[in-house]
Amino acid sequence: MSLGQEAAELDARDPLASKRAEFDLDPQVAYLDGNSLGAPPRSVARRLEEVVREQWARRLIRSWDEGWWDAPERIGDRIAPLVGSAPGQVVVGDSTSVNLFKLLVAATRLNPGRQEILVDGTTFPTDGYVADSAARLTGHVVRRVAPGEMPGAVSERTAFALVNHVDYRTGELHDLTGITEALHAAGALAVWDLCHSVGAVPVELDAAGVDLAVGCTYKFLNGGPGAPAFSYVPARWQEAFDQPLTGWAGHADPFAMDEGYAGRAGISRARAGTPDILSMLALDAALDVWGDVTVGQVRAKALALGEFFLRCLDELVPGVEVLTPRAPARRGNQVSVRWPGAREALAMLTAQDVICDFRQPEVLRFGLAALYTRYGDVLRAARVLSGWPG
Ligand SMILES: *Cc1c(COP(=O)(O)O)cnc(C)c1O
Repeated sequence: MSLGQEAAELDARDPLASKRAEFDLDPQVAYLDGNSLGAPPRSVARRLEEVVREQWARRLIRSWDEGWWDAPERIGDRIAPLVGSAPGQVVVGDSTSVNLFKLLVAATRLNPGRQEILVDGTTFPTDGYVADSAARLTGHVVRRVAPGEMPGAVSERTAFALVNHVDYRTGELHDLTGITEALHAAGALAVWDLCHSVGAVPVELDAAGVDLAVGCTYKFLNGGPGAPAFSYVPARWQEAFDQPLTGWAGHADPFAMDEGYAGRAGISRARAGTPDILSMLALDAALDVWGDVTVGQVRAKALALGEFFLRCLDELVPGVEVLTPRAPARRGNQVSVRWPGAREALAMLTAQDVICDFRQPEVLRFGLAALYTRYGDVLRAARVLSGWPG
């Protein structure tokens, strides 16, 4: 059977094929960048129109008491099952970078008397930048260590380690449970960044005993450009959780207008200022696509898409250097290849309606957002690459 026939058959038999119709996507486009900006679910435009025309225009200020003020916790509870969290431990708001700052400073306060912070040596840069600044403020020293080497590097000096669950560049999936265990064995806390795993890979935060986590909602959760991020603080840490952005929205009684800060009980003390309601309610609508599908189903299809894509690459682009681990247990929902002249290759892919992206140095990334990506899409990407002289 030819690859083309195989792709057609896989798409015809795909149990998630009908989910694609819930997204506003041009059928001509092979969209392989859902790991950077998820595609828009059709429900989002309708919901935003309603929020502006009904809630904002007609209900005006009353809307704050009719669902807006509590949206961060309510939507956090919708994300909780996607990351293996009980209710009341996830709150939505602010960017990932801002949430990292809150959580990293709080982590130093949860584990005092230790001088060192380990940061994933392959991290997405913002995490490292924020960790460096948090360390300067709190008097800690940052050491950069590859995730696989953290179990050997952690010691009684380590307050916590910050690890990316999936490497943004290579798509490698790290062992969240094993690394968390190793950190705990040395008395260090485990802080995980789920930006590239939430909505893509099953995550079990409670079961793994993760201490704190952040994640992004505009990638595999399709929340829209700049959609607010989330923070996870498990119940056992909430009372001691002391984050540095002590804005009024995290106050025990915000409308008492007290002079002094007292954090509200529960996850709400991870909040800072007035929530970004339009973005947040766009995300709320986007989460509707998870009503009849599990992360497990999405993961199963993404692994099959990856398997098929790797086969297409091997056949059509022999000798291509794949940076993503081939073992299913070690890759997230992304395939990355080293490609000399990646920037030019990207322009050629884009000209043929294959949308992906590239990262320094010379890496092409193909996101496999299984809710809407077709087997035919990854075959097209491999076909375009096969025509590239480089
Ligand atoms: C996408 C991503 C971010 C993004 O941070 P923003 O504050 O939303 O810009 C941070 N960390 C990781 C690991 C990411 O993949």
